[in-house]
Amino acid sequence: MTHTTKTYVSETVNRLQPSGIRRFFDLAASMEGVISLGVGEPDFVTSWSVREACILSLEQGYTSYTANAGLMELRQEIAAYLLRKFALEYRPESELLVTVGASQALDLALRAIVNPGDEVIVVEPSFVSYGPLVALAGGIPVFVRTNGADEFKLRPSQIEQIITPRTKALILCSPNNPTGTVLNREELAAIAHIVKKHDLLVISDEIYAELTYDEPYTSFPAIEEMRERTILVSGFSKGFAMTGWRLGFVAAPEMLLKAMLKIHQYTMMCAPTMAQYGAIEALKNGEHDVDEMRKSYRRRRNYFVQSLNEIGLRCHLPGGAFYAFPSIQATGLTSEQFAERLLIEEKVAVVPGSVFGTSGEGYVRCSYASSLEQLQEAIKRMKRFLSRL
Ligand code: PMP
Repeated sequence: MTHTTKTYVSETVNRLQPSGIRRFFDLAASMEGVISLGVGEPDFVTSWSVREACILSLEQGYTSYTANAGLMELRQEIAAYLLRKFALEYRPESELLVTVGASQALDLALRAIVNPGDEVIVVEPSFVSYGPLVALAGGIPVFVRTNGADEFKLRPSQIEQIITPRTKALILCSPNNPTGTVLNREELAAIAHIVKKHDLLVISDEIYAELTYDEPYTSFPAIEEMRERTILVSGFSKGFAMTGWRLGFVAAPEMLLKAMLKIHQYTMMCAPTMAQYGAIEALKNGEHDVDEMRKSYRRRRNYFVQSLNEIGLRCHLPGGAFYAFPSIQATGLTSEQFAERLLIEEKVAVVPGSVFGTSGEGYVRCSYASSLEQLQEAIKRMKRFLSRL
């Protein structure tokens, strides 16, 4: 063979960096006795009633494809849920689409709106997939850097500075992964003002909307005049503890939804049927379990963030998700050095903030979706680690 592998792989894919989180998972997985605060998923098993609904659907033989957009009954439940929880109105027949996780929803949203060379604003520190998904859609991710001293809140002036005639959209994520920061109604309204002024679209990733602990949650399309400009992405992975089910959804005005559905028809066809039956049950009867999980995360957040501050890792109180994002600047180490040494010396896995973008440097992401005992042990080990530095 005269060609190298590189010849066959597209330039776009060649340019993508492998996910920085993976390297730490692989290292942690090869060690024994590691407390992992690294993974971004709930530590709960999906509610039994949801699993049972899925099993029942299989017993009844519901094993064929569903409609491309998803089971109508599920779309009706999603519409009722969005209305009940966030005062949002979407039509099940034309404005909702069931996807394979929020991940596919993000991919569809970007591919449906991006022309080659369009710029999409990504807020850093950011979920690791946004930049690569924009690039795979043919666009250019343009990063806006939020600031630890400002609790990583996105401010309108920061967006305005980087808008160009090619700016097509802004990806918002509140509550945020990795910072846990939640934007309140006033902060969202200020961003909406800029969005309207510059005629942008917004992809609002609200996958952690169920997991907020201090204030009532505001969904971005609920802000005045934003519904028509927003592609709302959400799903079942986090709030309903259903990561492995691979089920999400998208809500958007008909014109945008139709465009996404076109891609979905040719690529995925439909989300897994049995998972859709489980999700119907989650939305119909899952509220109590979600409340209990939320309370449990809140208790753990309060303990963990207070303890981080007590051992000298300054950390703002994150309003949502299940991540703490403490500063490690006082240690003089880079986030990668800190994470690697903490893992090797004390067997605690955290994720270096630098994998979430330049403004994540100086911080590490710790998921507190672990038992209280594990969190207590992790704090003990981190304290010992810090005392040696
Ligand atoms: N968005 C954010 C911000 C996330 O953190 C994640 C999961 N880590 C996803 C989307 C993807 O979620 P899903 O499992 O629904 O694909």
